[in-house]
Amino acid sequence: MYRWAKCPASPYHLVDFPVPPKSYTQEGTKAHDLGEAMLLGNSYDESQYDEATISNVKMYAQYVKSLQAKLKGELHVELKVEVSSVSPLLYGRADAIIVSDKRLDVIDYKNGKSTVYAKENKQFSYYALGAIDTLELRGLDKIVLHCVQPNIKRKNKFDVWDTDSEYINSFRQELSEALSYAKANRKEYNIGQWCFFCNTAECPAHVEKLTEDMTDIQQLSF
Ligand code: SF4
Repeated sequence: MYRWAKCPASPYHLVDFPVPPKSYTQEGTKAHDLGEAMLLGNSYDESQYDEATISNVKMYAQYVKSLQAKLKGELHVELKVEVSSVSPLLYGRADAIIVSDKRLDVIDYKNGKSTVYAKENKQFSYYALGAIDTLELRGLDKIVLHCVQPNIKRKNKFDVWDTDSEYINSFRQELSEALSYAKANRKEYNIGQWCFFCNTAECPAHVEKLTEDMTDIQQLSF
């Protein structure tokens, strides 16, 4: 959402030019597959993973399992969530969701080295909203967003934020407004740090900027 709220053309651009797989995204996907297998008790081929990945993903799986045991909740692994209250076009896949008495926990595994914060995290909020819509959850008192990120330098590898339905309802409104804006301005390209999550190589705005930069360099050369 962050990207398309900033650059309305990006969702349409990505339909024609999907982001090519990068090595770190492939590693992340493998780690998520392993996490799914561990949480569901499925077998996996250890030889396909290095020791660090196995140990990192074990940390995530143990975290989820102990939380589930503590809350005596219902665990959903790699749940396909649909944010139907905003649009049938919005969906995603949540790593782990625990539903317990009037409480929803969203747990996300991050394989990267940059610290991710749970507070007001748009991706985790999106999963929470999607879980509420998909599982038709009503009357929640507490919503908790968790991030498990074993590869960051920080000693504490977990980040947790407690919130409530009021916050998620305001996020739903924000999402709806961002979607309307994106639909109304679908030809508007806007370059920024969010391009990191997009296909810059095929982006006309980037090509144009590159051409301008080249012209500037030629004008400066003697
Ligand atoms: S690369 Fe950046 S400017 Fe181009 S479509 Fe993607 S987000 Fe928009």
